Amino acid sequence: MKKLKYYYDTETLSYKRVETSKSKRLGLIVLFVISVIIVSIVLFISYLNIPSIETPKEKAYKRELRNMKLEYESLNKQMDQMVNVLEDIERRDNKIYRVYFEADPIPEEQRNVGFGGVNRYNDLKGYNNSELLINTNRRVDKLKKRLVVQSRSLDKIKEMARNKEAMLKSIPAIQPVPNDDLKRISAGYGYRMHPILKYKKLHEGIDFSAPVGTPVYATGNGVIREARRTGGYGKLILLDHGFGYKTFYAHLSKFNVSEGQKVKRGDVIGELGNTGLSTGPHLHYEVHKDNKIVNPINYFYGDLSPKEYSILRRRAAMQRQSLD
Ligand SMILES: [Zn+2]
Repeated sequence: MKKLKYYYDTETLSYKRVETSKSKRLGLIVLFVISVIIVSIVLFISYLNIPSIETPKEKAYKRELRNMKLEYESLNKQMDQMVNVLEDIERRDNKIYRVYFEADPIPEEQRNVGFGGVNRYNDLKGYNNSELLINTNRRVDKLKKRLVVQSRSLDKIKEMARNKEAMLKSIPAIQPVPNDDLKRISAGYGYRMHPILKYKKLHEGIDFSAPVGTPVYATGNGVIREARRTGGYGKLILLDHGFGYKTFYAHLSKFNVSEGQKVKRGDVIGELGNTGLSTGPHLHYEVHKDNKIVNPINYFYGDLSPKEYSILRRRAAMQRQSLD
């Protein structure tokens, strides 16, 4: 029911009805609608600014996100430890293994080389935690690469170790005849009176005096290059050890090996004799390094104590006539 309004007219001293025009009523309605809209907007804005009331699902998501962030941070910490261990291995690799095998260290830049391509982590861009994701991925990639470099380096070292072992077995390191009492060296390397020419001449090996038939040993692993009868050296064996080393065994009475045969240190390759230009049963033994003749006395370290070695050195240094 529509409410009727009256006012008191002081002139006529009576109540009169208040007439509201149609346009005025319309104005009031418009004003009301506008007010409602304004109030709604104000309420909506304030609703957006007030922390929203979370649904349980939203709460769970947020918790999961927090946990994932923590997880990533913990992964990064574990990676720090892994990098520490790897750096230690790398240091040992560069400063011990590679030094031992006389190989160049791997430069830091080569170990830390990154992955090419700027778009590598594009998939991870555009999230709230993109930086964390990208950094973590980048670290994992770098770590992987460093591990590959280190693993290859250790393979190389293994190969070098194998090579070194082969080298140590090949380099001449024992005396070529049994010499328990250390008295068999009759002439050392150096200038000696030549037994036939009768003047001082460089004696390019060591003479071991012993009965004909005494076993002659290969002084290191190698391949028999020559086993043949010559003029001056009589029956001669030339043993190639590789790594730049060769040994010569002259004046033999008998060969136990043939050309091309592989021998090991200590194998009996022949028997001592008196063939060729020789003034008595003996073995003339030479060591060649990179095609230069060197003093064999430096290659007997394998089967002698320091005391025995010094006795042998003294004997080899005596100025005796060689048997050639
Ligand atoms: Zn000699």
